[in-house]
Amino acid sequence: MSSGQADGDASSRPAGSVAVRVEYAKDQGFHAELRRRVNELFLTTRMRKRDCWQMYLKSILILATAGVAWWLLVFKADTLAEGLALAALLGVSVALIGFNIQHDGGHNAYSDHAWINRIAAGTLGLIGGSSYTWRWKHTIIHHMYVNITGQDNDINISPLGRFSPHQKRLWFHRWQHYYMWVFYGLEAFKLQLFDDFRYITMGRIGRHRIDRPMRWEMVNFVIGKTAFACIAFVVPMLFHPVLVVLFYYVVAGWVLGLTMVLVFVTPHLVDKAQFPLPGPTGRMDRSWAVHQASVTVDFARRKGVLTWLLGGLNYHKEHHLFPVICHVNYPAMAATVEQTCREFGVPYHEHRSFAAGIAAHYRWLRTMGKQVRSPAT
Ligand SMILES: [Zn+2]
Repeated sequence: MSSGQADGDASSRPAGSVAVRVEYAKDQGFHAELRRRVNELFLTTRMRKRDCWQMYLKSILILATAGVAWWLLVFKADTLAEGLALAALLGVSVALIGFNIQHDGGHNAYSDHAWINRIAAGTLGLIGGSSYTWRWKHTIIHHMYVNITGQDNDINISPLGRFSPHQKRLWFHRWQHYYMWVFYGLEAFKLQLFDDFRYITMGRIGRHRIDRPMRWEMVNFVIGKTAFACIAFVVPMLFHPVLVVLFYYVVAGWVLGLTMVLVFVTPHLVDKAQFPLPGPTGRMDRSWAVHQASVTVDFARRKGVLTWLLGGLNYHKEHHLFPVICHVNYPAMAATVEQTCREFGVPYHEHRSFAAGIAAHYRWLRTMGKQVRSPAT
């Protein structure tokens, strides 16, 4: 972890320049008290914020599962049924690498050692992404401006869909609750084959300017993309016809894309999450911490296996409030976060199951497809 970085501190201005300066209101005591209580929890329970043994163990298990699924798919699968099952397993296990290992590493939440975080974050290269562009897109832009229309690039898929009440509605959005699921499955292909190249070529993600990768960052970018190309295409094509390789790439990628998107839309793009806008000068009415809590909804908090698989991303409010604490601690932190939110009148919502969260997202898509006029807030 970089020195001086506070556990819940994403409230400082990111290094990149943005077209519109969004400023949060000063903390009125909620964030300071929440951090005090969570720090006290770690002191009294002697839990480790990072370098947790559970994290190292699950990383080995997940990487081994993905490696074995790939090896069986490339070298052992004989029938279509075996191939489809292994491609689906590969897609899911690759998503788990992202949720658990890469996501914590990218947030400096895996370890107190920067080099371990860099290795964990770098696993994104193996599955087709780039830890460089992800740091800009997710750690900086999404976490800083989450659910702010025009700022959070994750909620902008215009013109394909309408996620926010402040976005323009087009006539075909009335069917978005039907067709959007197909496009969610394409997200992995977009990420692996287009987005990263577009971001670094344009030097921009949405309205946010980003620094282009320099020297070692560019070397790492090229190594990651080359490694992925070898794993996904070059090695399999040495043993199988091109069309067969592309077919299983599409199956695994579609499973990966759908899994990935469902975990990230469920906490933010539902009716219980809010979509506040800054004032004309860019000023937000609320502090950074109150904003994070207001736009994020937990789901399936009592489902231990799901929590393990999703890298604690079902405890999404805890993640957004404390992005640099390792996710294996979120279940133990949740009661403190919930209690503090309730005492300070800060929203604390959850969906009881993953399915309930997905159903809520379906309803939100339907509502946004119907709504013609933007509400005041
Ligand atoms: Zn995150």
